[in-house]
Amino acid sequence: MADALGSGATSAPALTDAHLDRIAARRDVNAYINVTGEMAKVAAATAAQSRDLPLAGIPIAIKDNITVEGVPCTCGSRMLEHWIAPYDAAVVERLKSAGAVILGKTNCDEFAMGSSNENSYFGPVQNPNAPGRVPGGSSGGSAAAVADFQAAAALGSDTGGSVRLPAAFCGVVGLKPTYGAVSRWGLVAFASSLDQVGVLGRTVDDTRRVFEVIRGYDPKDSTSMRDIPVEPIPETLTIGLPREYYGDGLDPEVRRAVTGTAQALQAAGHRLVDVSLPNSPYTIAAYYIICCAEASANLARYDGVKYGYRSASTQDLSSMYGRTRSEGFGMEVKRRILLGTYVLSAGYFDAYYATAQKVRARIAADFTDAFKTIDCLLTPTAPTCAFKLGEKLDDPLAMYLMDIYTTSVNLAGLPAISIPCGRSSAGLPIGAQIIGRPFEENLILSLASEVEERVGGSNNVS
Ligand code: GLN
Repeated sequence: MADALGSGATSAPALTDAHLDRIAARRDVNAYINVTGEMAKVAAATAAQSRDLPLAGIPIAIKDNITVEGVPCTCGSRMLEHWIAPYDAAVVERLKSAGAVILGKTNCDEFAMGSSNENSYFGPVQNPNAPGRVPGGSSGGSAAAVADFQAAAALGSDTGGSVRLPAAFCGVVGLKPTYGAVSRWGLVAFASSLDQVGVLGRTVDDTRRVFEVIRGYDPKDSTSMRDIPVEPIPETLTIGLPREYYGDGLDPEVRRAVTGTAQALQAAGHRLVDVSLPNSPYTIAAYYIICCAEASANLARYDGVKYGYRSASTQDLSSMYGRTRSEGFGMEVKRRILLGTYVLSAGYFDAYYATAQKVRARIAADFTDAFKTIDCLLTPTAPTCAFKLGEKLDDPLAMYLMDIYTTSVNLAGLPAISIPCGRSSAGLPIGAQIIGRPFEENLILSLASEVEERVGGSNNVS
């Protein structure tokens, strides 16, 4: 698109209109919660005057838990249905300064809690590659919008896999940057020690271009990092295949595609080595204890006074709090607040929360050890392909297990990318995950480009 804009083959307003038409024609995908068509047209007209900016005129979608000034930011929740964001998130500010055109806010699981996008107050999203199946979550709207050509690229957030899992299910690229590489200012907090804004694109190059714009130090986010040197990338990489990620529970077709990807990289001259990340079996337990604990604290602010929804039936203050939260939050959010307050309660803190923190440190140490001898890891992104809508709704544990290969990356604060690596016999996209050392986004992006070239993509939407 940048080339077509540069050569004059199209214009920013025409590109924006084409995307708005596509969004309108494909409302059944339910990728967007709010489309900001008028704002997009104004931005496109301005972008037409500033052609040398890195994303001038490029239409981009934003997950609805990232603020855009003057636009509702619902987080997929009834609680924030009518809350209008008073300022731009740091990442949105950067996109706007780079000339990008914001098309609207994409559907997501409520407060980014979920793996299928079925926990949204605004209804589920359809997988554009396979209607009737989930797009993955929680950034399902962002992945579906990109796969379905309803945006050139999109921002998502990734606390335990929410950019990578929907990327894998929808056949697009999803980058979860190192914790601290991208500012969280304006990203509505779910689990602050794990949350990171990520990018979804149809190609590795698209993903990289957007990442280059949003990355960087921000004084408003005390966990954002300054001046990170970009290391040169060795020509031949040593790629670790962690055996715990290829064990029981991995769908045979996913295994075949990811193993085939590893072999293609070996044929291209890279070295494959078998490695162990021995604390992998404890990842899901540690992740769900920590994310629920942090969520229970972060979500205390939604009390009917400070933000959003307030219950109409209120006799006194405490019943107003209670009713507001009962009516404003959905089932999954309530489950996590209950779990989180439980693991933080005086009698159980040491048994659960403190133990999970120790396990987290060991999981991170497994990666540090592995990275002494390897440059990156190659794993499946998810144990299966996109499942059917409704299939796992009654079984939260089965849903949580979808995150088995992605959550360790957040616990350790590492960068990782999901890259399409083929399709199942039923035609469903499959994603491979490349995990890198802190701040080595450059290396994992470059290896992902090789996968893209040698193995090919899997988005099949026309
Ligand atoms: N599926 C995971 C969860 O439900 C991850 C969500 C996310 O990354 N936001 O917590």
